[in-house]
Amino acid sequence: MKRSHFFIPTQKEVPQDAEIVSHQIMIKGGYIRKTAAGIYTLLPIALKIQKKIENIIRKHMNAAGAYEIYMPVLSPAELWMETGRYQIYGKELMRIKDRHDRDFVLGPTHEEIVTDIVRKNIKSYKELPVCLYQIQTKFRDEVRPRFGIMRGREFTMKDAYSFDASPEKAVESYLKMEKAYNDIFSELELEYSEVEAQSGPIGGSTSKEFMVHASSGEDKILSCARCGYAANIEKAGAKYDNPDEPLKELAEAETRDKKSVEDVAAFMNMKPEKIIKTIIAKTEKGFRALLLRGDRELNTEKAKAALGLLEIVFATEAEIEKITKAPQGFSGPVGLEDIPVIADVSLQGLRNAAAGANKKDMHFLNVNAERDFRVEEYADIAFAKEGDACVKCGGELRSFSGIEVGHIFVLGTKYSKSMSARFLDENGKEQIYHMGCYGIGVGRTMASVIEQKYSQDKGMYWPSCIAPFDAEILVMNCKNEDAVKAGQALYEKMKAAGLDPVIDERNINAGIKFAESDLLGTPFRIVLGNRFLETGKYEVLKRKTFEKTEMTEEEVMALFG
Ligand code: ATP
Ligand code: MG
Repeated sequence: MKRSHFFIPTQKEVPQDAEIVSHQIMIKGGYIRKTAAGIYTLLPIALKIQKKIENIIRKHMNAAGAYEIYMPVLSPAELWMETGRYQIYGKELMRIKDRHDRDFVLGPTHEEIVTDIVRKNIKSYKELPVCLYQIQTKFRDEVRPRFGIMRGREFTMKDAYSFDASPEKAVESYLKMEKAYNDIFSELELEYSEVEAQSGPIGGSTSKEFMVHASSGEDKILSCARCGYAANIEKAGAKYDNPDEPLKELAEAETRDKKSVEDVAAFMNMKPEKIIKTIIAKTEKGFRALLLRGDRELNTEKAKAALGLLEIVFATEAEIEKITKAPQGFSGPVGLEDIPVIADVSLQGLRNAAAGANKKDMHFLNVNAERDFRVEEYADIAFAKEGDACVKCGGELRSFSGIEVGHIFVLGTKYSKSMSARFLDENGKEQIYHMGCYGIGVGRTMASVIEQKYSQDKGMYWPSCIAPFDAEILVMNCKNEDAVKAGQALYEKMKAAGLDPVIDERNINAGIKFAESDLLGTPFRIVLGNRFLETGKYEVLKRKTFEKTEMTEEEVMALFG
């Protein structure tokens, strides 16, 4: 490709909303352009890279025995009503009407559509297992679309769905996909971790996320260097230690205007760990008192999963007053009879704590569970944090940031049950499918490569398997005919060898030429400058190692094996 004839509209300025490096590079380097919030056009080089990523995904999905299909983006609302997700998905689901006023949705994921296909077309256990996948455009009306194609409202996803005859077989399919994902992200040369994850609205029991290590990542992960446990902070557990001590007599203390844990701890000269924080929460099953150790925050995702709830929100001040008979800030479990009391596991064994007294400006001291109040259930409902003891081995948890590029789930029978998707087993009896689902954000993966591989001083580096070109030839002095001819000859030779080179033969400032080359990030930059005119040798930059070497034409060609 000739750089002068290729559509790579670079620009110097980055828009204000481009907060992270991948978004900035993709705009500056002419990879993408914004069409509307969270909606982007992929320009030629981004599309080239995306297609290469798609093909790597395809290769490993096919190797794992999955079949590629292509489902419609537009699907009838009835299918979504069968599973109840037409309501549950909320505003993220893009809904439209056709000319007959019938309701449709633009698919954010395809469990309903694929289950409908399988229930109508697979009848016997003999045809199982089956795993179907597609690479297709998804629509999600994200609350905060941002970071360019990293969190778009329209984006490309690879989504796969497995159907098995039993829970055990479903796990086998899941493990096959787990291996395929590891093969995909390793081939893409990404540094990543596989972490335990919360299943969220997709449902199911077991799920893991593939996290690309990047400081800009929106996800926080806790991992244990000792045993290798790693989990999304939305899911991560920890072990807590509360020193044992003899129970003291319950007492009351005046805590005028001291409402927060910090204020009460400072006022009473106590550690926050010795204070019970009481949150009055509203759920679809009624109000709950959620107790946390004072140094902990409520993790609503964990709480929803642990308590089997769909929604947990903080009660309003008026609701708190009605339930506790006291203003906000003085709620506590002692004497709170009307609503169930759920305690975080961090409170197990905590002795002689302080807690709100359900009276204005008053707290109790020496509060002890069981003696002073009844706990309906201990559950893991708080965020674990860095420095906590690993829930598996007691080692120390460390935190890092990651970008979720893939997510695999064991779904169980959530969709097959609600959609009556059945097959006949060996005994001719009807059974429902055990499913799994598996997603990869294709555009997000591309952006995460930039997040990880770009550096200010070295520029961008695309791993060879997805690089937009195999090599870039820069002719520095385009007024010199010999240099231009030599560059073109090398370009032709590479093409004849089946390579995909790009030649920058534009008569522009050398600084701009290098800067644009740093944005393009091809694995090899071959410069024809003054040294070439003197010695006939090319100055070659290997972007992966940032190593510069002078090479003869033969040596250059040998780079590509
Ligand atoms: P997130 O927590 O980031 O919103 P999710 O859990 O909603 O992701 P899944 O439903 O598991 O994501 O979708 C599968 C994959 O699709 C994700 O792992 C991610 O790589 C990608 N993805 C999800 N939402 C977006 C988006 N808005 N823009 C681009 N890629 C996305
Ligand atoms: Mg999401």
